[in-house]
Amino acid sequence: MHKGKVAIVTGASQGIGAETAKELAAQGASVMLIARNIKNCQKLVSEIQDSGGVASAIKCNIADLSQVQYAVSETVKIFGGINILINNAGVIEPIAFIKDSNPRSWADSISINLIGSYFMLQSVLPTFKDNSVVINVSSGAAHSPQDGWSAYCAGKAGLAMLTQSFAKEISSDLIRIYGYAPGTVDTDMQTKIRTSGVNPISKIKKEDHWGVKTPAKVMSWLCSEAAYDLAGQELSINDKALRIRAGLSK
Ligand code: NAP
Repeated sequence: MHKGKVAIVTGASQGIGAETAKELAAQGASVMLIARNIKNCQKLVSEIQDSGGVASAIKCNIADLSQVQYAVSETVKIFGGINILINNAGVIEPIAFIKDSNPRSWADSISINLIGSYFMLQSVLPTFKDNSVVINVSSGAAHSPQDGWSAYCAGKAGLAMLTQSFAKEISSDLIRIYGYAPGTVDTDMQTKIRTSGVNPISKIKKEDHWGVKTPAKVMSWLCSEAAYDLAGQELSINDKALRIRAGLSK
């Protein structure tokens, strides 16, 4: 499905990003894995290569513009260009009511979830060929506030607006952008949320979350031409028609 394409996946050291990197590689893309935990990324690169895929990894904190620019230029050097950006890296912290929150941690959250994603988008644009794709990993939290998640909700709401702003500026014939809310997915992020007990999301049982393969498959499908008509939209796992079109069994 993605033969000849080059994809960058941020937050690829674990969770949704790691599985999405594996899925894109399995579908033929050359994949650059980006995160701060380079050891985990390198382990995944070996796994992908052992299964016949093409991948590489760069250590990068997406909140740091110079690290982002370096990661993008290295990707171009290694793979010759970029066609797909999966803006997946994100943090749930700080989990705190506003009155108790640490201002520095609050700002750090926005620096990663919103500003880091903007840094990635802005930096890859000059490298993009026609017919490229960006997926900003969104959340239900972008559209409905949750107790104790003011930083996360504000960051994801800003990211959803970044998606829509970009869609307005650029023709989807050139670059397709999607927001994709994966629903609650069984990752370390949900373990942290469960441990906090702060709001109704934290009460959802581990076994009731989606597995990581679900968002990986949907995002890989969104990168294909078949999803052309959905460009520019904020999409959600809750949309059954989307699940069917992406080939999920339920
Ligand atoms: P996760 O297991 O905690 O993984 C988060 C990833 O983001 C890690 O690979 C982490 O890598 C990376 N990351 C965090 N800060 C970074 C930074 N400054 N620079 C580079 N990478 C950074 O979480 P997940 O559940 O897979 O979440 C992935 C995305 O899905 C996030 O955007 C999250 O908001 C969104 N999402 C998740 C759920 C859910 O239920 N799990 C629901 C809705 C939306 P390093 O620590 O190695 O840097």
